[in-house]
Amino acid sequence: MNAASAAIEIVSISQDEGSNAVQTAIATVCLSGTLDEKLQAIAAAQFKGVEIFENDLLSFNGTPTDVRHMVEGLGLVNAVFQPFRDFEGMPEPKRAKVFSRAERKFDVMQELGCDFLMVCSNVSPDSLGGIDRAAADFYELGERAAKRGMRVAFEALAWGRHVNDYRDAWEIVRRANHPAVGLVLDSFHILARGTDLAAIRSIPKEKIFLVQMADAPKLDMDYLSWSRHYRCFPGQGDLPIDSFMDALQATGFDGLLSLEIFNDRFRAGSARSVALDGQRSLLVTLDQLQRRTGVPVPDLPKLPPRAACHEIEFVEFAMDERSAEPFKQVLTGLGFVKAGKHRSKDVTHWRQGDINIVVNSDKEGFAHSFNITHGPSVCAIALRVDDAPATIERAVQLLDQPFAQPVGPGELDIPAVRGLGGSLIYFVDHKTGLDRLWDTDFESTVDGASEFTGAGLTTVDHVSQSMFYEEMLTWLLFYISLLDVQKTPVQNVIDPGGVVQSQVVATEDGAVRLILNASQSRQTQSSRFLTDMYGSGVQHIALATADISATVERLKASGVELLPIPENYYEDLETRTDLSDDEIERLRAGNILYDREGSAEFFQVYTKTLENGFFFEIVERRGYEGFGAVNAPIRLAAQTRLALSAAPPQF
Ligand code: MG
Ligand code: MG
Repeated sequence: MNAASAAIEIVSISQDEGSNAVQTAIATVCLSGTLDEKLQAIAAAQFKGVEIFENDLLSFNGTPTDVRHMVEGLGLVNAVFQPFRDFEGMPEPKRAKVFSRAERKFDVMQELGCDFLMVCSNVSPDSLGGIDRAAADFYELGERAAKRGMRVAFEALAWGRHVNDYRDAWEIVRRANHPAVGLVLDSFHILARGTDLAAIRSIPKEKIFLVQMADAPKLDMDYLSWSRHYRCFPGQGDLPIDSFMDALQATGFDGLLSLEIFNDRFRAGSARSVALDGQRSLLVTLDQLQRRTGVPVPDLPKLPPRAACHEIEFVEFAMDERSAEPFKQVLTGLGFVKAGKHRSKDVTHWRQGDINIVVNSDKEGFAHSFNITHGPSVCAIALRVDDAPATIERAVQLLDQPFAQPVGPGELDIPAVRGLGGSLIYFVDHKTGLDRLWDTDFESTVDGASEFTGAGLTTVDHVSQSMFYEEMLTWLLFYISLLDVQKTPVQNVIDPGGVVQSQVVATEDGAVRLILNASQSRQTQSSRFLTDMYGSGVQHIALATADISATVERLKASGVELLPIPENYYEDLETRTDLSDDEIERLRAGNILYDREGSAEFFQVYTKTLENGFFFEIVERRGYEGFGAVNAPIRLAAQTRLALSAAPPQF
């Protein structure tokens, strides 16, 4: 059995005789496309079950029986049919109508080969409250369902008219006291309202027929809009999914865990990629649950832990002949020294401080094809981790795409996975000796006593990536599921062409920091970069110095052109900071941007934009943890001005 198919054999469902042994499922409403496209994506992502959304059936050009055949043909199970709305608590004659509507749904379900109807709490102004009235309605519905060998389950919508709390829904199910009537727990509806989770722990597991999983970013809006547009997969948002899972585990629940996400980005994204994200998010949620509580999740594949990252070992640029020489001049200007030459390929190693840059101009292999597709650009990043093989093993289990290409004799085979925009993330470690790469794969081009102090640049401070808006949650999940990194909340940055959303993933110690940027406006610098580069990729790399003024002097002396910052910025600094005139003059002369948080200070300069929209940033941190968000609009405006006034310099 391959690792990926093992990934979903988690536990068997407990409700019935095991004929519908389903653990992970996903609702068709999560994905873009037509029903058949959705089902194919769901099967490809190795889900066992599917929740058929009625609208997807109504808009499908075929009968429910056709859908049944399609689902079965893909090896899936029609686990749930939903939603059945505005059911409980209706006065007559509406009540009678509701039951005949239910019978028609049961007819459709019979054709679909689905035995489970999900009922969400009534929002109709006609509905009457009263726990016993609702319980009586569910008893009758249970009777009707049971006659057909079906089951129904009740979900409290966060905006339900009388029932908007899972505890009330459970009381109704409890009082209905019918074997064919159970409860649905939906993490969004429960966590969005901040409902206390303790009561989940005392619900008998066999009465929880279905658990729907959704996360969401923290937003201040009405529950309905929040739910319909901003739900996301567990881990992608800010809701306390972990606490929900802990409470659920306490019940011994081993039934159906299903994703139900309404998200505008998912509807605009690739169904296949979103479905894979869904499966990945559930695996990570269960893996984390197991690690946190020490209670094994039966049949969950054994995942190595998230990889501890210690530094960015190198950044690799794919450069064609025309671009390579000017780029090497830029590196030299920035104080880099050519430290080595690859033993078998047209690849050079540039070094300064602990920063390693690889310039790959080989005519074969991954970098070459990347260059043909994207032009001169960053094609790979290498991370130093504790255990590179274990990192790859986790990536495989999480359905990421491992990558390998032939290596020369005696050279290291550095494991990699596909990352953003088809680029690679390599993993090196000390454990398996992959950190010897500079000695094994490269011939030194300097004498042993060489110092690599150059312009005082010491480490890679952060790597900033621009991506399509629809992909942002995908890559967020990719990083946080594979690497031991934390995410920050999303920030909105003002660009002259629109708003850019920015989110940081970083190790706790800040040794590795990646910034994810995306924009819905096509006019932002982030979006223009995507056009220039024919896809998502690394837009800038920030390098750290301990003394920005000294570094800037060195760069000026070697002819590096920095991004000019307007005079107004420094006049404003005079008014809003207590910096001395001399200090302001020093910043002004160096085109240095400044920020302060308490006593922490931050300094940044940018090179002019190089070919293909890429640029370097240089930063000095004095106890500062952020990224100068306050300066981003100034920088973006300066870059836009420059882009409009002249073609970028060739490198
Ligand atoms: Mg739901
Ligand atoms: Mg930056």
